[in-house]
Amino acid sequence: MSTNTIKKLSGEDLFKNIISHSKEYGFIFQSSEIYDGLSAVYDYGQMGVELKKNLRDYWWKAMVQLNENIVGIDAAIFMHPTTWKASGHVDAFSDPLIDTKDSKKRYRADVLIEEHVAKIEAKIEKEVEKAKSRFENFDETMFRSTNPRVVENQKKIDEINARFKAALEEDKLDEVKQIIIDLEITCPVSGTRNWTDVRQFNLMFNTQLGSVSEEASTIYLRPETAQGIFVNFLNVQKTGRMKIPFGIAQTGKAFRNEIVARQFIFRMREFEQMEMQFFVKPGTDLQWYEQWKKTRMAWHNSLGFPESKYRFHDHIKLAHYANAACDIEFEFPFGFKELEGIHSRTDFDLRNHEKFSGKKLQYFDPEDNENYIPYVVETSIGLDRLFLATMSQAYQEEQLEDGSSRVVLKIPPFLAPYKVAVLPLVKKDGLPEKAREIMNQLKLDHLCIYEEKDSIGKRYRRMDAIGTPLCITIDHQSLEDNMVTLRDRDTMQQERVSIDALMQLVEAKVSMHAQLRKLM
Ligand code: ATP
Repeated sequence: MSTNTIKKLSGEDLFKNIISHSKEYGFIFQSSEIYDGLSAVYDYGQMGVELKKNLRDYWWKAMVQLNENIVGIDAAIFMHPTTWKASGHVDAFSDPLIDTKDSKKRYRADVLIEEHVAKIEAKIEKEVEKAKSRFENFDETMFRSTNPRVVENQKKIDEINARFKAALEEDKLDEVKQIIIDLEITCPVSGTRNWTDVRQFNLMFNTQLGSVSEEASTIYLRPETAQGIFVNFLNVQKTGRMKIPFGIAQTGKAFRNEIVARQFIFRMREFEQMEMQFFVKPGTDLQWYEQWKKTRMAWHNSLGFPESKYRFHDHIKLAHYANAACDIEFEFPFGFKELEGIHSRTDFDLRNHEKFSGKKLQYFDPEDNENYIPYVVETSIGLDRLFLATMSQAYQEEQLEDGSSRVVLKIPPFLAPYKVAVLPLVKKDGLPEKAREIMNQLKLDHLCIYEEKDSIGKRYRRMDAIGTPLCITIDHQSLEDNMVTLRDRDTMQQERVSIDALMQLVEAKVSMHAQLRKLM
């Protein structure tokens, strides 16, 4: 039994270490780094691109491959500009912004208020944890409803949320500012409260289509992939002979001119979404919404991270298109934050596209013998946020029993960039040739890495650091008995196995089947 201990890191330290590890091992680089970078834009390196691809594949298989009534598309990033009029993005896709006159820093007013609420929530949780550790048979529900400090703080939160929700719903930006003043929120940079008025700022990037200025028209970089699905709804339904209920899935880049662009790849200006729009009969939308909440949470849980890392968060202010909406939040090193949105979008999008395009976007239901505009339930997850969640959960610093330490990425094996490392013990005596034979066998099915430089110990550490679940070491004995050493990344245990059994052993360790089967 190993007695290795995991180093406990504070959220802030953990996050810093993940960022530097991501760079050091080729997962994520700052965009255009040689020019000092571009804020909130990142590039995926040789490791990152593989992990990202595996996460995308896992989502695609779960959505499209396992569901006979969901198909995929790949729509263009550029769309007719009227799309964004119809979707409401030209008029309503904006964030309320506020500046401090002293530091000249700009913030999202809603984020300032939400962070203030999160601090009060943290106080409540601390109180609960303290009590939990003190009393046996602790009744948490009772404690939350009777402890005076908890009750008072919860009341504060409810009041702030209610006031903020009303202000947003009535579009009262001066009231949003007043809330910030009343809560005595200060600018984190200057520490002062010299706030400007709150203004709305549209998040869409635009550019010109056409080279001659008279002919040019303003088009937008899509801020979400969903609209490419809506405008193709009838194309797919008719050509695919789809029957309601059915879904259309898509992954691809989206662009938002985010103002508060901190927190690494959590909030980027260019990012990737994985979205699925599920078209249903009107009146069944809220049932499907509940169903998709369950299905998506089950998908997250199938990754194998602790269930306590996820929670639902209902929206207090519904977007202009929704009649129900929630987020699946993940506990990132900087706290619980949105990872995926699930929205019941009514018939808002299709109805508006019908109105703006003058084309009918209706479905003929052969069972009821009637035409209708379907209602839509959307599931929308950010691939980059999923990547960050995976890295946050996988990154571990360990103190080993022999006094040394290692950094290991415990990425679920089916998602790991390299599945296997093939390592000849030394660079001579026919070991590299034997290793190459094994590599050639395995690389048809799996992404493998071959390394012969450095001591075997150093090579193992490097494989731990990039999350390679299995290492195969070929030594002199291998040439005689056709056996190799198979080392497991997580347990660091080594066993002698026959070369003939390798294909099967590797497959059993890294296959996606077990996870996918759970979702069937
Ligand atoms: P937030 O409230 O954090 O700005 P949102 O509610 O605007 O997010 P949605 O419009 O619901 O996000 O987009 C769906 C998903 O796309 C989000 O759950 C998130 O994972 C991802 N996403 C949105 N904006 C960004 C961004 N700027 N960078 C990375 N991922 C993003």
